[in-house]
Amino acid sequence: MQAHIPTMFMAIILVGTVLALSVGAVADRSQRDGMLYWAAGLFLHTLAYVCFGLRGQVNDFVSIVLSNTLLSGALAVFAEGMYAFYQSKPPRRLIWAPVALVFLIFIILLDQLSARILIGVLVFMVQCLLALSFMWRKRRQTAGRGKYFLATGIAVMTALLALRIVGVVRGAAAAMLSLTQSSLIQTLTFLGALISLLLLAIGFVLMSKERADELNQILATRDDLTGLANRRRLNEVLASEWSRANRSEQSLGLVMMDIDQFKDYNDHYGHQAGDECLQRVALAIQSSAQRAGDLAARYGGEEFVLILPDADINATQRVAESLRESVESLNLAHIRSPSGRITISIGVAALTDACFRDPDDLLRAADAALYRAKRDGRNQVQAAPESFPSGPHARVSAKLVQLVWRPAYESGNRVIDDQHRELFHDVNALLGAMLSERETEEVAALVQVFIADVAQHFEDEEGIITAAAYPGAAAHAAQHHALIDKAITLASHFRAGTLSLGELFEYLAHDVVARHLLSMDREFFPYLQPQS
Ligand code: GH3
Ligand code: MG
Ligand code: MG
Repeated sequence: MQAHIPTMFMAIILVGTVLALSVGAVADRSQRDGMLYWAAGLFLHTLAYVCFGLRGQVNDFVSIVLSNTLLSGALAVFAEGMYAFYQSKPPRRLIWAPVALVFLIFIILLDQLSARILIGVLVFMVQCLLALSFMWRKRRQTAGRGKYFLATGIAVMTALLALRIVGVVRGAAAAMLSLTQSSLIQTLTFLGALISLLLLAIGFVLMSKERADELNQILATRDDLTGLANRRRLNEVLASEWSRANRSEQSLGLVMMDIDQFKDYNDHYGHQAGDECLQRVALAIQSSAQRAGDLAARYGGEEFVLILPDADINATQRVAESLRESVESLNLAHIRSPSGRITISIGVAALTDACFRDPDDLLRAADAALYRAKRDGRNQVQAAPESFPSGPHARVSAKLVQLVWRPAYESGNRVIDDQHRELFHDVNALLGAMLSERETEEVAALVQVFIADVAQHFEDEEGIITAAAYPGAAAHAAQHHALIDKAITLASHFRAGTLSLGELFEYLAHDVVARHLLSMDREFFPYLQPQS
């Protein structure tokens, strides 16, 4: 395969010119992304090929010395572009020394084709390898795939140069290696040069675009004034952390805070000072988000939220308390506030059990606790009930969870299965009623209905297992009676205030429903006739 050399030259020059003009047209001086350097590099590259192509028609200085110096210069300008892109200080000597070297080598070795190709190509290679190593060091700072295009472009260029060195070392006819002689190696060199030129331009433009996209992405999730995550980002992260916590059965802490008497602050010190105050407080909040997954967000106005993955209510409370202290110790004067300085009120909530239905529920719980902190005098932390309200309902075991029905619980008897499923549902409804902090009387009435339902189910079940000739039917019925008797006793203790709702609930949900169903009931399953 041998291409027509003048045509190849024209192709490279035309493509190079179009690329240089296109990149130059989209470059924006104010953006400082190195794009103008890139356009200049492409332009020098093209100019170098114009000089190469004039071999024989102009003197050797232009077609050999100037052309190679321009090519080396193009690589140096590309390096400047890369440093500009990464906003690093370019090592000017390292970048430009090879260009001066190429100039000198080609002047000195003008009459020695092999030697000048060998040394010249080596210098070009060093330039390419330096660029590649710089990109490698910066690989983590670059989003997207543009960097791979660019690195491939440089790698192709380096490979072509290596090919030429191999040719010289193996003693191939020097004339064959000269750029102006048509040969397979020349054809491949031209095609490779064309490909690397395209990759270089596309890669760099892509890198710039990808970085702009990344920046836009960041801007779209940030709050302008404080730099914290905005409400949109908060919702996204909360939703994903919520699912993760549920999947891995870990906790999730939520801190909601609000600056105290901030309206008065604005009124007294002015809106500008208010903004500065918000920034100072935001900084303190940001510093308390110490672990990798923590997120500090501005919820709106002078309200902020902190998401703390894998933090239980105690850990969340500790973070909140230290945050409250650190805002207080900022010592921002607020003469209209009782303490004389800026303070915040905080509400915290944590997901430990499946007590909250969705992320909004968790937010609402923290918000309700924040409201209590305001009501009880501000500048304090209040925790939402982890699973139950404090006071008479206190000391509730963390074992309280919603019951989830599984197909493995089925006995095969439709009446029994329907009733079991119904009991699961009732337990969960009871849990919901308790979590919404209803009055004792109201909850007691629900408990009474629940116990009556259980008793009815036990009676129906006894009829079915007796009819199925289950030998343990009588013993099973006795267990039923014992469970119901104890439930009635505990319910009366609860009504009298001597038993917490949590303890009563735990007995009803776990001993009466879950444990009984999962152990004792299973013994009669084999005696039941499956029903369709
Ligand atoms: P409380 O202690 O009950 O929270 O009283 P408060 O005055 O802080 O509560 P309120 O919610 O009534 O006032 C919030 C004020 O926050 C109203 C508004 O002027 C101010 N604010 C909200 N967003 C901004 C903002 O971006 N910049 C400034 N400077 N002020 C803001
Ligand atoms: Mg407010
Ligand atoms: Mg406020």
